[in-house]
Amino acid sequence: ERIWTHQDPDYLPPEIDTSKPSIARVYDAFLGGKDNFAVDRAIAMEGMKHFPDGGGGARNNRAMLFRGVKFMTEQGIDQFLDVGSGLPTMDNTHSVAQRINPDARVVYVDNDPIVLAHARALLQTNDKTRVITADMREPEAIFHHPKVEGFLDFSRPIGLLLVAVVHHLGDDERPAELVDTYKARLAPGSYLQLTHFCSCAPEVRALEGVLLSMLGTGRARDLEEITRFFDGLELVEPGVVHLPEWRPEEPVERPLDLAGICIAGG
Ligand code: SAM
Repeated sequence: ERIWTHQDPDYLPPEIDTSKPSIARVYDAFLGGKDNFAVDRAIAMEGMKHFPDGGGGARNNRAMLFRGVKFMTEQGIDQFLDVGSGLPTMDNTHSVAQRINPDARVVYVDNDPIVLAHARALLQTNDKTRVITADMREPEAIFHHPKVEGFLDFSRPIGLLLVAVVHHLGDDERPAELVDTYKARLAPGSYLQLTHFCSCAPEVRALEGVLLSMLGTGRARDLEEITRFFDGLELVEPGVVHLPEWRPEEPVERPLDLAGICIAGG
């Protein structure tokens, strides 16, 4: 099997189509990463015409992801299911969790094969972290995936991450019911970390328009709708908020700017 590594920069696995944009690569372009192609950058550039600090929004999201993983690990969570994990970048769920608990196990799930290609190279020497290609809309296939079953113990608490991924589902795909299916599979004491593109300013609506028309996905929902994804769970303080307000480790500059309000979560 040929593995795509950074030592072999020209090799592209055949399943990677560089003529069509990919959510993971567009997000990487917003983050200022290098794992994207012209077709992805065109969308990020168009989006930034309407929302110049789209990169700031993505970075706030990554920062909150890490604060959440750190928090969950400190609460004793030692296994994570990170669905819609995206391309590995500067820091990642497993590195944050394993810095605190080297035995923490992480499964990354993404439906974009480019994530598997990159993560496999990154994780060759990490036997506590796995990556699978699967669709979040098929949770049973994820729970029973041969690389998940026996690796994550669903009879014990799990940290489930649905970070910046549920906004890629249309209302017709019944996202709340899907999130409920995941919640129902988790043992008591588990955590859900979920963030979502938040429709709180005209500029966010404009960015949403670009994403929907050029990428075909990326819906903003309001704070109330996002909060409802947590129905039936006890909310960790301060609840579902714009991301810089979620347990900040540094002083927060208020009022929040657009990059601060464009994504909410808990
Ligand atoms: N969770 C990471 C973060 O917040 O930094 C990455 C977020 S990125 C905006 C969304 C990711 O979800 C992409 O990598 C995309 O490929 C993945 N994704 C979108 N729809 C998906 C689906 N139906 N099943 C699995 N992954 C999906």
